[in-house]
Amino acid sequence: MHIKTSHNYSLNFSTSARNKKKIKYIVYHYTGMRSENKAIKRLTDLNSNVSCHYFIKRNGKIILIVPELYEAWHAGKSNWKKDISLNKKSIGIEISNKGHEFGYENFSKGQIKSLIKLSKYLIKKYNIKASNILGHSDIAFERKKDPGEKFPWSYLERKKIGIWHKMEEKKLKKFRNKKISNIEVLKFINYLNKIGYLTKNLKNINKTKLIKSFQRRFRQKLINGKIDKECLIIAEKMSKLSK
Ligand SMILES: [Zn+2]
Repeated sequence: MHIKTSHNYSLNFSTSARNKKKIKYIVYHYTGMRSENKAIKRLTDLNSNVSCHYFIKRNGKIILIVPELYEAWHAGKSNWKKDISLNKKSIGIEISNKGHEFGYENFSKGQIKSLIKLSKYLIKKYNIKASNILGHSDIAFERKKDPGEKFPWSYLERKKIGIWHKMEEKKLKKFRNKKISNIEVLKFINYLNKIGYLTKNLKNINKTKLIKSFQRRFRQKLINGKIDKECLIIAEKMSKLSK
């Protein structure tokens, strides 16, 4: 498969090439900036210390920013399962979107089409597991909200990209805002741990942000930072799918 891209190289990458086998994850981001051009400038500005591998413009065009075999600087301090600092092991894709701070918008049809094409190409090339396709907020929930609750995880799963619970919205909705017991809260945290979220040192982490991150990914209709029965049911299902 051939992916059509233009390039606008960034010097923000680690200079020694990595082994192809090291690449285990795809991490999706939104740019979270007012203007698309400014976002591209930032990712290619030597002083910003940030970059990504691919950038998807609002019109769907893909720009190559850092070649895949070099580590780009998109994830920052991050954790997933037993891995820390996911830059080393991932391909980072930035999708142009103003984000929560400047007017979070739906991703465009062109962006989703390109994202599917690019993801399929990477999955095949690096043999990436469905459960290793992640959002930035999954791996850095205390700092990040991207790609956010408008990101079409369920649609992507139907295109064989990533994982989704596939439960009926109608049935699930009955459990929304339903309270759960303290034991169920512990169960929920345990499921999150199995999915891959960092849940160690619970005393030190921001639980509301952890729950919101889970919701932005798996229960996108209501992001309130509270664990209800719907969240519990979804988390249980996802823990089984997260191998
Ligand atoms: Zn990000």
